[in-house]
Amino acid sequence: MKNFISRTLIGFLVASNCVAAGLDDFKELMFAPVPRAEAAKAGLTVMFVGVATLLFDDGETAIMTDGYFSRPTQSELRAVVPDREGISKALKRAGVTSLAAVIPVHSHFDHALDSPIVAMQTGALLVGSSSTANIGRGYGLAEERIRTVKFGDSLSFGRFKVHFLESAHLPIGYAPGPISAPLTVPAPASAFGQGDAYSLLIEHEGRRILVQGSAGFVPGALQGRSADVIYLGTGGLTVRDATYQAAYWQEIVRTVGARRVIPIHWDNFYRSLDDGLVPGADFPRMIESLRERGKPDGIDVRLSPQWVVTDPFVGMSN
Ligand SMILES: [Zn+2]
Repeated sequence: MKNFISRTLIGFLVASNCVAAGLDDFKELMFAPVPRAEAAKAGLTVMFVGVATLLFDDGETAIMTDGYFSRPTQSELRAVVPDREGISKALKRAGVTSLAAVIPVHSHFDHALDSPIVAMQTGALLVGSSSTANIGRGYGLAEERIRTVKFGDSLSFGRFKVHFLESAHLPIGYAPGPISAPLTVPAPASAFGQGDAYSLLIEHEGRRILVQGSAGFVPGALQGRSADVIYLGTGGLTVRDATYQAAYWQEIVRTVGARRVIPIHWDNFYRSLDDGLVPGADFPRMIESLRERGKPDGIDVRLSPQWVVTDPFVGMSN
């Protein structure tokens, strides 16, 4: 226990320093919080909780990508297990009372480890690939609460329409295969095979947001699609060469004609939610390179603070 406390304390101090070194330099890019009373006026609000977990809420319906909160440390990867209590605390902190759907962007543990538990705790449908469905089954989520989708499918939840578009993971070769049988936990993190990777196009009352969970792409896959705002997965992007980075920007951001890019998947996901979001060492470089790329087209880069209700369209003309 004593060890735990001192580890937590050290973690907190380190986190505070890292946050100061990484995020503070980009304060002007941060969205201001939407006060609760004004959330209805915004029509659609989004809360970022870390990695690719985003809560979309229009006051009537809420949907969530990933729902990843447990965030095991690297030394725990041999046997990962969702932290049910931590998940319920996080959902409470996010203000989630009911959820229509929880949608992992692919089935790696840093996206889908907690998704079935989120579904159980909120009444949400677990929506995703056959791999995601097998995580739900292994955890004992009822079959009628699991919805398996294929590339090109679209599903409506209240006024949200979600299109499941074919995408790819950043090519890292980690656990690439599907999960072909119900997966029980504890399990090695690598048992969470990637399965299908989506670009999620979320339509809401004529507005379009793209959620790109991983920094990969399938050439031409987003041809003919449009989105004003992109939550853009940036994990591992800066270690790719310039050609790859340019192609990613072209295939995702420019192809859909986005006017605003909000990076996600930039935090160290081995750090507990209690530490706040701790950016990787490459964070300033990543942000600057996105801003450079966006400049010629007037695409602005904004950042979403953690746990904050934001209006991703704020300041954008229609
Ligand atoms: Zn992944």
